[in-house]
Amino acid sequence: NPALSQIGQQMSQLTGVRAIMKDIIETLRLNRGQDLINLSAGNPLILPEVEQLWRECTQELMASPEFGQVVCRYGTSQGYEPLIAAVVDDFNRRYGLNLSEQNVLVTPGSQAIYFFAANAFGGAAANGQAKKVVLPLSPEYTGYGGVSLMPHTVVAYRPRLEIFETEHAFKYRPDFQQLQIDDTTGCVIFSRPCNPTGNVLTDVEVRQIADLAVPYGVPVLIDAAYGPPYPSLNFTELVPVFGGNIVHCLSLSKAGLPGERVGIAIGDRDILSVLEAFQTNACIHASRYGQAIAALAIANGALADVSLNVIRPFYQRKFAVLEETLRTALPQDLPWFLHRGEGAIFAWLWLRNLPMTDWELYQHLKQAGVIVVPGSSFFPGLSEEWHHKQECLRISLTASDEEIALGMERLAATISQIYQDA
Ligand code: PLP
Repeated sequence: NPALSQIGQQMSQLTGVRAIMKDIIETLRLNRGQDLINLSAGNPLILPEVEQLWRECTQELMASPEFGQVVCRYGTSQGYEPLIAAVVDDFNRRYGLNLSEQNVLVTPGSQAIYFFAANAFGGAAANGQAKKVVLPLSPEYTGYGGVSLMPHTVVAYRPRLEIFETEHAFKYRPDFQQLQIDDTTGCVIFSRPCNPTGNVLTDVEVRQIADLAVPYGVPVLIDAAYGPPYPSLNFTELVPVFGGNIVHCLSLSKAGLPGERVGIAIGDRDILSVLEAFQTNACIHASRYGQAIAALAIANGALADVSLNVIRPFYQRKFAVLEETLRTALPQDLPWFLHRGEGAIFAWLWLRNLPMTDWELYQHLKQAGVIVVPGSSFFPGLSEEWHHKQECLRISLTASDEEIALGMERLAATISQIYQDA
C-alpha cells in the first residue's frame, strides 16, 4: 500500500501464528456443530477458582474509597503505586532481593515491554548501525516476530537438539558455538518457560547468555509469562535470575487476567526509564483497574497461592494426559519426539523426516477432526533453511482431558498412516 510509511507497511502485516489463526477461525466457522477438536488456542481457560479470585478483588476495590482514585484519574507511567509496592515486597521476600520501587515498571501487558525494548534498543542506532533484537533460542514465542518497527531486526539462532531416542523425547539447548551477542546487538529476549516448546533454559544457560551481553551493555529480557511466582506454570524447578543487565518480565495474562493487560518489568532503573518514557509517548500507562486488583491479589498472597495450587496442577495434568495418550497411541518405531514438558500451556511435537510439510500435516489433521498449530509459525527471526522447521506441531493444553485424549488418538492415527504411505 503506497499510502503507508515504511513503518506502516511493517506494522500492518500479521506475523507468525496470527496469520494462521484466520484459517483456523474459518475452519471452525465452516464446521460448526461438527466433531472438531480445537487444540490450537493460546488463550488460557477460565478456571473457576481464578475467576473467583479476581471477582473478590474487584468487589474489595469497589467497596474501597480508593475506587475513584483508581478509575477516574490518570496515574503515573511507571504504574499504580500500590501494585509496584506489592511486587517489590513480594519479590524481595520470596527471592531475597533488594529491589526498590525504582526497579519496577508496569505496562499494558508484557507484549508492550518487548515492543518498547525492541524499538528503544534495537533498530537503527544513532550512528547508523543496525542493532539486532537477538532471540538466543529458536523456536520462540511467535509474538516476537512483530515487535520491531524495522524489518529484519529480529534474529534468532538455531538450537542444539538433545535427543532421548528411546524415550521419544527431546529438548532444545542454546548453541553457544553459534550465538552472537556483540556491538550489533540491541537487546536479547527469550521466554522461560518457553511458548511454544515448554522448554525451561537452565540457570547456567541463562547466566551464560546474560554474561555474553554484559560487555556490550545489552539488556537481556527474560520473558516469564509462564514463570513463577505467578502464574507458576513451570513443571520443573525454575529459579528466576535477576540483576545487572537482566530485565525480568512478568505477565498476569496466564494468571487469569489477560483482558486487563498487566505486564511488569523488574530490573535496572536506567533500562526501565527508557521503556517508561517510550510508554508515556505510546499510551501513557496501563489500565489502573487491572493494576489495582492485581495489587490486592499480590499483597495478600492469593495470586501466588492460586497459581501454585490451581493453575499449575491443572495444566501439568493436561500435559500428562497428552503424553500418556501419545505414548500409547503412537508406534514405537516411528521417529516422533515430544519436547520435555517443563512448563507453559502447550506441548511441542517433533516428527523427524516427516514426509510432508507441517502445513500439509495440519490440513490432514483438520480432515481427521483435530486442529493444532503448524510449527513453522514459531521460528521468528530464523530465516535459514532448516527442515526441522517444517517437522513440528504445537498442541494446546487448553481443552478438556477427554478432548486432549481423543485429539491425540486422532493425531496418532493420522501420523502413523502418513509415515506408512510414504
Ligand atoms: N510472552 C509469551 C511467551 C506469551 O506466550 C505471551 C502471550 O501468549 C506473551 C508474552 C504476551 O502476553 P501479554 O502481553 O498478555 O502479557
